[in-house]
Amino acid sequence: MDLQLTGKTALVLAASKGLGKACALALAAEGADVIIGAREQTNLDAAAKHIAALGKGRVRAIRVDVTDAASVAAMIDTAAAEFGKIDILVNNAGGPPFGKFESFDDAAWQSAFELTLLSTVRFSRLVVPHMRPTGSGRIINITSLSTKTYLPGSVLSTSLRLGVVGMAKMLANELGPDNITVNNVAPGSILTDRLRHSMTSTAPGAPSFEEQLAEHAKGIPLGRIGKPEELAALVAFLASPLAGYITGATIPVDGGAIKATV
Ligand code: NAP
Repeated sequence: MDLQLTGKTALVLAASKGLGKACALALAAEGADVIIGAREQTNLDAAAKHIAALGKGRVRAIRVDVTDAASVAAMIDTAAAEFGKIDILVNNAGGPPFGKFESFDDAAWQSAFELTLLSTVRFSRLVVPHMRPTGSGRIINITSLSTKTYLPGSVLSTSLRLGVVGMAKMLANELGPDNITVNNVAPGSILTDRLRHSMTSTAPGAPSFEEQLAEHAKGIPLGRIGKPEELAALVAFLASPLAGYITGATIPVDGGAIKATV
């Protein structure tokens, strides 16, 4: 299936590794020009090299801290100046820490707000004016299965990602007349560094990494942890003209882990 992404320009955040990098790779493989952002230069350059090796569209790496307003604005200005337009925005960031409700003070909540919700607000607000003149646009937010089911210890993530889901629904309605779609993709357990660090224990006597993953996978109907490219395939489809009638949706990529029926 040709996703008709050749000539499209995609801005993909938190894309030096993990889910963001997989999304950038999938979009580039379909012919899009991609601009990737993250904070640390070495990983970012390595990701750009990997994507460029596909030999498809242009690739540009721009250092950005998605929690820093000036850094966000500078990235968008550079992208728009160099590529002339932005067709696709993939909002993504590192996740906030896990822990119990009473372990988080105001500073922790403020940081999580800036990382998870405000970054999505800022990028969306600044990118829309670059999408509107093209007559279409795609905003895709990477969220979490915790927006649809209980995930222990995820109070920061869940509370703020539900804000992202609410914002996406509002934007889907407001931007519909501009042919700009806004959707959320909700990963379950996908094998990235984030999952390695948050889900497995390295305490003395703990089972091996593989044993811990296998134990976790028992609760997933498909019986395994997901691969980043399995999430990225959905993102590439949602970014394409073929997904033009899907907006305001939150779509899980979770191997069936969410048990709710609606
Ligand atoms: P990851 O492998 O740890 O990658 C995180 C990426 O985010 C890196 O490229 C990192 O680069 C970048 N990043 C972190 N903070 C940033 C900031 N302030 N500004 C710009 N870039 C930043 O994580 P992942 O698994 O891909 O997760 C991506 C998102 O999906 C997270 O929000 C995570 O909570 C969510 N999620 C993941 C899963 C899963 O199973 N993997 C499940 C549910 C939800 P730098 O550190 O260089 O900036």
